[in-house]
Amino acid sequence: MTHTVTTINPATGAVLQTYEGWTPARIEQAVAAGHAAATAWGLQPLEVRVAAVRRLAEELRRQKDAFARLVTAEMGKPVAEAAGELEKSAVTALYYADNAQRLLCDEKVAIDGAHAWVSYEPIGLVLAVMPWNFPVWQVMRFAIPSITAGNGVLLKHSPNVTGCALALQKLFTDAGLPEALVTTLVVAESQVPAATERLIADERIAAVTLTGSNRAGAAVGAAAGREAKKSVLELGGSDAFIVLDDADVSAAAAAAVKARFHNAGQSCVCAKRFIVAASVAERFTQLFVQGTRALVVGDPTDPATQVGPLARGDLREALQRQIERSVAAGAQLLAGGRALDGPGYYFEPTVIANAAPGMAVFDEETFGPAAAIAVARDDAHAIELANATPFGLSVSIWTGSTQRGVQLARRITTGAAFINAVTASDARVPFGGTKKSGYGRELAAAGVREFCNIRTYWAA
Ligand code: NAP
Repeated sequence: MTHTVTTINPATGAVLQTYEGWTPARIEQAVAAGHAAATAWGLQPLEVRVAAVRRLAEELRRQKDAFARLVTAEMGKPVAEAAGELEKSAVTALYYADNAQRLLCDEKVAIDGAHAWVSYEPIGLVLAVMPWNFPVWQVMRFAIPSITAGNGVLLKHSPNVTGCALALQKLFTDAGLPEALVTTLVVAESQVPAATERLIADERIAAVTLTGSNRAGAAVGAAAGREAKKSVLELGGSDAFIVLDDADVSAAAAAAVKARFHNAGQSCVCAKRFIVAASVAERFTQLFVQGTRALVVGDPTDPATQVGPLARGDLREALQRQIERSVAAGAQLLAGGRALDGPGYYFEPTVIANAAPGMAVFDEETFGPAAAIAVARDDAHAIELANATPFGLSVSIWTGSTQRGVQLARRITTGAAFINAVTASDARVPFGGTKKSGYGRELAAAGVREFCNIRTYWAA
């Protein structure tokens, strides 16, 4: 029986393309070729790898516009945001090209009577299980440092962005990287858990990284644990956006609109819970609702559009149910709350007030354009609310005092804290979660070393 993967344009509901899922024999060929390519690549001098990563940056820029159109067609983000993913990936490639020598050079250790040093060596072929929400950036932020470190990549992307996944593989070879160093596997959804388990158990695969939901992360992490294999998990989030009583409220409200509705709210680090000091809550809410209502929702290929459709129909239905359950539990709908009529998976940008622990919009990750506002009595209450989630990716704190913001942040468990700034990933700083948001780090020095053999040399 053959298994297929069909991609759908979420702005129209029209079928884009159907792909045949790979047979176990074809996957086996890819693993063998990927393993051989990774082994050869790991023996190349760092300068050769760096030159290739620099060419990759050029290629990302050269293919930017056409690739952005493909991203928009497959998952519905506004085309300028799609182009932004390609550019951010190019900047990241240049960051690693410029800094690889510093990040991966041997480190001498002063020991009497011996020469000792620490070396950052490649580990081989890494399986990357990736999500659709940033179909280029999520892959690149893992693949660029991993290739710089001398590893190979087997990519298992989300089925709804299979066109992007195949175009990514081509982009690497267009940039002159060796064939089979990066391979996209096409796996039909029903085959995914069994296929990834088999891959993780394969001795030619050194490690696995997954960006995605907690459900998928737990399955992949457990499979890696059974094999005593390294894993990095970048999972869901329900980030707090805290507005303190001394904040610039209009700047905070304008930033809040960007922080929640970027990518139609489909980002792990979108701010999802807005925790606002009682004395500024009314003004913040009014400005936030005003900003939300002003968003231009529509055709993602139109440059004027700010919010496109959700990527799939089932995601839209899940969001609708979370909102309905929260309203039934006492939350108040201030804006939006409904799917838009007509073709495509559009959903109105939504603001919900009176959110509290025990409600779906507070306890669960909302992966779409829905903001939940909760009022905090004081700083201690804001901390309590921010921590009242199983997730721990990042927190964004708005205040007139950076020192006060940092003090608050130290009592909230997350992988990052942004003061008077919207959370974003950046090649120069590590990115990753705490609690159920996962473990391990991507980007910066920490990210490139996650998939290195950090090796001790000791010569008497
Ligand atoms: P998802 O359903 O977990 O899918 C992510 C990837 O995992 C897909 O390639 C998926 O393939 C695969 N997968 C699912 N179940 C699996 C299993 N049992 N074994 C092996 N692979 C499995 O997540 P999504 O809906 O695409 O993405 C949204 C989620 O990703 C959100 O929770 C979001 O917060 C999180 N995310 C986190 C970060 C971060 O950096 N922390 C960044 C972006 C997104 P199939 O679809 O074929 O099953």
